[in-house]
Amino acid sequence: MVKSLMKENQHKNGSVNDQEIAWSVASNVLDPEIPCVTIGELGILRDLELQDGKAIVSVSPTYSGCPAVLAIELAIEAALLKAGFKTSINRVLSPPWTTDWISEDGRNKLKDYGIAPPVKASSKMALFGNVEVKCPRCSSQDTEKLSEFGSTACKAQYRCNSCYEPFDYFKCI
Ligand SMILES: [Zn+2]
Repeated sequence: MVKSLMKENQHKNGSVNDQEIAWSVASNVLDPEIPCVTIGELGILRDLELQDGKAIVSVSPTYSGCPAVLAIELAIEAALLKAGFKTSINRVLSPPWTTDWISEDGRNKLKDYGIAPPVKASSKMALFGNVEVKCPRCSSQDTEKLSEFGSTACKAQYRCNSCYEPFDYFKCI
């Protein structure tokens, strides 16, 4: 079995380079819902193997039932086809994706985009569904939830009580 590039970066032969190209094409696909972050940064691209020139891509859905999952899979397939790779997508449900897999870069980009990055699940308060959401603009913790659903089902609508700006919060799972 070919090891994932996440675990192994050695250059052995041409096929490894092809795999690196395919990995980089796939990981740079932008999330269709949050077009500031790549699926690599979201941590949902789990694995990519090349078998007879075909890219076998393993993707973990973010939120189950989120319509973005199919859009993301189609976007990966389209990007790889454009780069010359036939593609097959495996949806990996286990281990389930968590917002903890979002990279630091991804978190910073979400914040720059005006979306409060998810509070890490390791945070004690998150266990009780009582999260402290910081305003992505002024970092105030004086925020209130306006609605459980923001622009998409994956986000909640918040408002900052310091700068009065509404913002989306990327919900934890
Ligand atoms: Zn604010």
